[in-house]
Amino acid sequence: MSIFSPDSLKALIDEYVPDLVAIRRDLHEHPELAFEEVRTSGIVAQRLHALGLEVQTGIAKTGVVGLLRGGVAGPGAKTIAIRADMDALPIAELNEVEYRSRVEGKMHACGHDGHTAILLTVAALLSKRRSELAGNVKFLFQPAEESIGGAKPMVEQGAVQGVDAVIGLHLISDIPSGRVAVRAGAICASADDYVLTVTGRGGHAASPHEAVDPIVIGAQIIAALQTLISRSTSPFSPSVITIGEMKAGTTFNIIPETAVMRGTVRTFSSEHRTYLMRRIGEVASGIASTLGGSCEIEWQIGGCPPCSNDPAVTALVRRAVVATVGEEMLDEDESVVSAGSDDMAEFLQAVPGCYFMVGSGNEAKGTHYQHHHPRFDLDEDALPIGVEALVRAAVDYLEQG
Ligand SMILES: [Zn+2]
Ligand SMILES: [Zn+2]
Repeated sequence: MSIFSPDSLKALIDEYVPDLVAIRRDLHEHPELAFEEVRTSGIVAQRLHALGLEVQTGIAKTGVVGLLRGGVAGPGAKTIAIRADMDALPIAELNEVEYRSRVEGKMHACGHDGHTAILLTVAALLSKRRSELAGNVKFLFQPAEESIGGAKPMVEQGAVQGVDAVIGLHLISDIPSGRVAVRAGAICASADDYVLTVTGRGGHAASPHEAVDPIVIGAQIIAALQTLISRSTSPFSPSVITIGEMKAGTTFNIIPETAVMRGTVRTFSSEHRTYLMRRIGEVASGIASTLGGSCEIEWQIGGCPPCSNDPAVTALVRRAVVATVGEEMLDEDESVVSAGSDDMAEFLQAVPGCYFMVGSGNEAKGTHYQHHHPRFDLDEDALPIGVEALVRAAVDYLEQG
C-alpha cells in the first residue's frame, strides 16, 4: 500500500503548484551559465536545508546534493537518487512574458529551470512524508549540463555513493504537453568531438608533385570516415560521424601546409563508441601517411557516454508514468530516442537508472519551439506531471525494498 493514494497525491501536488511555478519563473528570470549557477544553487541549498535534509554544496563547483533519510528506513534500506540540471544558455530571450530573462544574453532555453523547480517540489513532497519513507532519497542538483561537464565530477566526488538507482527527467518541447516518453535501453547518444590536423608540405598550386597537398588528403579522410558507418558498423547499430568544419588554405594558387577538420561522433553503446573513436584516428592517420602526409587527432575534453536505461528501473518508472498520465499518454517506441547527448549518462553509467522525457510542447501556448531557440518556453502544466511521476517512482522503488 503506497503512502500516497492516487487521488491524495494529485490533490497534494495541486497545493504545491503555485510555489512550483513561482520557483520556475524566478529561475527563468535569473539564468546562470554552466558552473556559474551560484544564485540558483544557493536557492536550492537553502530550500533543502529548510526541509531538514542533509545538504552538501560546492560539489563539482556549483552542484548541490540533498539527502532525505526515510523515517522507516531499516538497515539495508535502499537509496534512490533523482537528478536535475540547473544551467542556462548564452542566448538572448525573444519571449515577451512577464518572467522573461533579466540577464542580457542568457536564457533558460532548455527547460532546466523547470527541472530544478520540479526536483525542489519533489523534495518538499517527500519530506512531508519522511516518517513513512522506507528508504532514502538523494537529490542531485547538477551544474553544467549544456557544456557537458557537471555530471562527471559529481560522480567522481561521490555524489552517487551508496545510491542503488538513479532517475531523472527532461522536459521536451518536441513531445506534446501531457504525454511522457519512457523507454528501456539507449535513449540518448554518446557525443565526442575531435580535431583532425592533416600536415602535408606546402607549395605552388601548379607543382603539386613538389608538395604534399593536405586538402586532397583531408578530402580522402572525410570520404573514408563515412565508410566506418556504411561498411564497418552493423546496420542495427545506429551511429553518426560528421565533419562540421574544414579549414585550409589562403588562396587558389597555394598548396597549404595543413588542413584542420572538426567533427563529432555519436553512438548508442559504449562498445561502439570505443570502437569508432579508435577507428577514426586509425583511418585518418593511415590515409594521411599513405599519401605522404600525417594526421594528428585530438579528442576534445567533455565527451559524453550514451544514456542507457536499465530495464528494471525503467519498468518501475513506466508504472509511475502510467499511474500519472495513463497508458494512452505514454510514448515508448523508438521515436523517443535522440541522437542528442546528455550527461545524465554519467550517473546512468555509475548506477542503474532511467532518464525519461516529459512533453512540454503546446502550440496554443507558444511552447513548441525547439530547445535552444530564443523563443523556447515551457508549458507549465507539464511541471506537476514531472513531479508526480518522480514522486511515484521514488516511493514505489523504496517500498519494493
Ligand atoms: Zn540543452
Ligand atoms: Zn537540456
